[in-house]
Amino acid sequence: MKRALGYAWAAPATAIGLACALLALVCGARVRAHRGAIECTGGELGQIVNALPRPVAFVAITLGHVILAVSPEVLERMREHEHVHVRQYERWGVLLPPAYALASLWQLARGRAPYAHNPFEREARERSGA
Ligand SMILES: [Zn+2]
Repeated sequence: MKRALGYAWAAPATAIGLACALLALVCGARVRAHRGAIECTGGELGQIVNALPRPVAFVAITLGHVILAVSPEVLERMREHEHVHVRQYERWGVLLPPAYALASLWQLARGRAPYAHNPFEREARERSGA
C-alpha cells in the first residue's frame, strides 16, 4: 500500500519522465523496468544532453520513477544514486522539484555549491555509497 501511494504521489514527475523516455526511445535509447523504476539509456540521449546549456546538462537524472542516463555505463555507475532519488520522489512526490530547487538556492545563498551541498544529493551520495 505504501509503495502504491509512492507511485501515485510521484506520478506527475513520472509522467514527465515517461515523455522524456519516449523521446529518447525514438532517438534509439533502450528502456527497461528495473527495481520498480523505468531505466532509459543510450541512443542519441548523450548527444542531446551534451547540447544542453551547462547548468542543466546531466549524465543521469531521475524524474519520478523514470531514470534517464546518457549511457549504460553511466547508469551502471549511477544506478544506486538514482534509485535513492526514486525513493525521494516517493516521499516528496510533486514537492520534490521545488524543494530541490529551493535547497539548491539556499546552498547558493550560503556561498556553497548548489548541487554538491544540496541535501537531496548528499542523501543520495551517502545512501548509495558514492
Ligand atoms: Zn543525484
